[in-house]
Amino acid sequence: MFEYAPAPESRSVVDLKPSYGLFIDGKFVDPADGGSSKSINPASEEVLAEVAEAGTPDVERAVRAARKAYDKVWGPMPGRDRAKYLYRIARLIQERSRELAVLESLDNGKPIRESRDVDLPLVAAHFFYYAGWADKLEHAGFGGNPQPIGVAAQVIPWNFPLLMLAWKIAPALAAGNTVVLKPAETTPLTALLFAEICQQADLPAGVVNILTGAGDTGRALVEHPGVDKVAFTGSTEVGRAIARSIAGTRKKLTLELGGKAANIVFDDAPIDQAVEGIVNGIFFNQGHVCCAGSRLLVQENVADRVLESLKRRMAQLRVGDPLDKNTDVGAINSAAQLERIRELSDAGSAEGAERWSPPCELPDRGFWFAPTIFTGVTQAHRIAREEIFGPVLSVLTFRTPAEAVEKANNTPYGLSAGIWTDKGSRILWMADRLRAGVVWANTFNKFDPTSPFGGYKESGYGREGGRHGLEGYLNV
Ligand code: NAP
Ligand code: MG
Repeated sequence: MFEYAPAPESRSVVDLKPSYGLFIDGKFVDPADGGSSKSINPASEEVLAEVAEAGTPDVERAVRAARKAYDKVWGPMPGRDRAKYLYRIARLIQERSRELAVLESLDNGKPIRESRDVDLPLVAAHFFYYAGWADKLEHAGFGGNPQPIGVAAQVIPWNFPLLMLAWKIAPALAAGNTVVLKPAETTPLTALLFAEICQQADLPAGVVNILTGAGDTGRALVEHPGVDKVAFTGSTEVGRAIARSIAGTRKKLTLELGGKAANIVFDDAPIDQAVEGIVNGIFFNQGHVCCAGSRLLVQENVADRVLESLKRRMAQLRVGDPLDKNTDVGAINSAAQLERIRELSDAGSAEGAERWSPPCELPDRGFWFAPTIFTGVTQAHRIAREEIFGPVLSVLTFRTPAEAVEKANNTPYGLSAGIWTDKGSRILWMADRLRAGVVWANTFNKFDPTSPFGGYKESGYGREGGRHGLEGYLNV
């Protein structure tokens, strides 16, 4: 292992306020009943800020503001003018990207290398991409003259706070809707900075409203009768509850839920590249990724070789301070998530799989979990079936392509999959048979705003990204 001097990114670019209100109708306001919670830095457990919790009266106010903005300003505005606002927001995100990246790493625990080089460029790209659609909706392939739906309620998780916000807000606004968005309770701060950017861009009041709070705020928002569209990203369990609660209403719904992706390595794959892909697939963003390659399916005759290289590579991963530019794996987002990862990993050992982590010193404070692999995993093991949402990989083997397909599809989820092979024909053969919304070949975790993303089965329905991502925000 090489020794590096620490290279921490300065946090002086971030101007944190001690407390934040709700962003309603273009202004930061206090919640009606004065509730609040603290957002902490999961790498140090330091309190970053006190953040308001929106209750039912605040949801009412925000939905009313969004409705008024939809009826009076945003709905009637020509697409080419909406585009100007979206381009302006995209440029401001680029200008303030360092500040946003540092704040994202502070609040979420992800390495600055990722927030700076992956999250923020994709966030800006998303706004640029959908800005381009705002005046071309009749050419998006839906026929006729597609119209916006109205007020969208959007609820997002904590793993990519700003990127999930961009995936939700950019297409909604481009299509002419107004939004009320609830970020996750543990990662509200970049959404609040985004609200400041909306002010800076002179976005008309009420077009974007941000309600911070926990699950109850989310429930009150999606159940509000004034909402026309619900877009949710999060767990399958909550997704199901939301689908039930809005069944029989006129609300349109899209769900992006969990996953348990297979990353499939054939014996003719370039092994070194495949190992990089495996590492990227499961240790990127601490494995807090819905499409993480959490099940490695490796062809039996190369399993030993792949595992040996993988272990050698894992021993090089630097776990620690998210703001250090050398860090590969940051902090687990919350004590609760750390507990879930521990519980499921302990079950893996108890069920007879073999656990391995490289030697790795973890900081004393904060929430940490060493990169871990389980070998000797069977399909019946909980670690092979349940989403772990952490830096933990289950390794299974297969002999034939048909067996790989059978094992890969043996899951209630269907979000993504990876194929590693030298043969193009095999890639196509596999991709035809894998029940997954996204299939990567000889790469993994590649995202692009022009490309649709979404799941089959219990991974949800509807697509985000690309032309397809507009459909959930239009009456077509
Ligand atoms: P979660 O518990 O379902 O929470 C997601 C969001 O919903 C949070 O903002 C949460 O609030 C809110 N919420 C909780 N209960 C609610 C309710 N009854 N009604 C309305 N909103 C409610 O998910 P998580 O565990 O935080 O996030 C991880 C999950 O998200 C994983 O399963 C992952 O696979 C999935 N995910 C999917 C995608 C995708 O595109 N398919 C992308 C990223 C993540 P609080 O957390 O503030 O309480
Ligand atoms: Mg936090």
